[in-house]
Amino acid sequence: MIRRCFIGLGSNLDEPLKQVSDALRELAQLPQTKLLRHSQLFRSDPVGPAGQPDYINAVAEIETELTPIQLLDQLQAIEQAHQRRRIVHWGPRTLDLDILLVDSETIATERLKVPHPYMHEREFVLYPLAQIAPDLKLPDGRRLEQLLEQCPMGTLEPVAL
Ligand code: ATP
Ligand code: CA
Ligand code: CA
Repeated sequence: MIRRCFIGLGSNLDEPLKQVSDALRELAQLPQTKLLRHSQLFRSDPVGPAGQPDYINAVAEIETELTPIQLLDQLQAIEQAHQRRRIVHWGPRTLDLDILLVDSETIATERLKVPHPYMHEREFVLYPLAQIAPDLKLPDGRRLEQLLEQCPMGTLEPVAL
């Protein structure tokens, strides 16, 4: 069975632009998986103390024969590989990979909740998602367009590479 999934990528440590670009390539290399498209990279101001790198986010669309749990295992393995290069022992991770949507499935287990529980309120998820899937609907019927109306872009901006 082939499932279409959206993955949220994020980083604000240790060369975030490189972290996210590398992770997109790694997604394309997952077994039984095809990277269909991805958004631009987006940057937003860090919250909290100054001097932190900006946040970089993107959303990718894949097609995979992996089950959702197998996909989560693979994504966590990619996160681990990125964290191994981390020097600091605190703060945000170098790479975060969240499963946003799996077809129109709803999954509510301890390890995996889909749709991602906070995606509807996060500008750094919704705006990149809108670039690659503007007509998207959530499993509960809400349209991405409606969610965007209630979620200001804030300091989020596409990165010109
Ligand atoms: P948030 O969920 O608010 O984005 P986070 O990404 O920082 O927070 P993590 O520490 O990366 O949270 O993940 C904690 C756990 O969330 C993971 O071990 C994983 O089992 C679980 N999890 C539940 N649903 C999902 C999902 N849709 N995608 C990725 N992980 C998930
Ligand atoms: Ca996250
Ligand atoms: Ca996560």
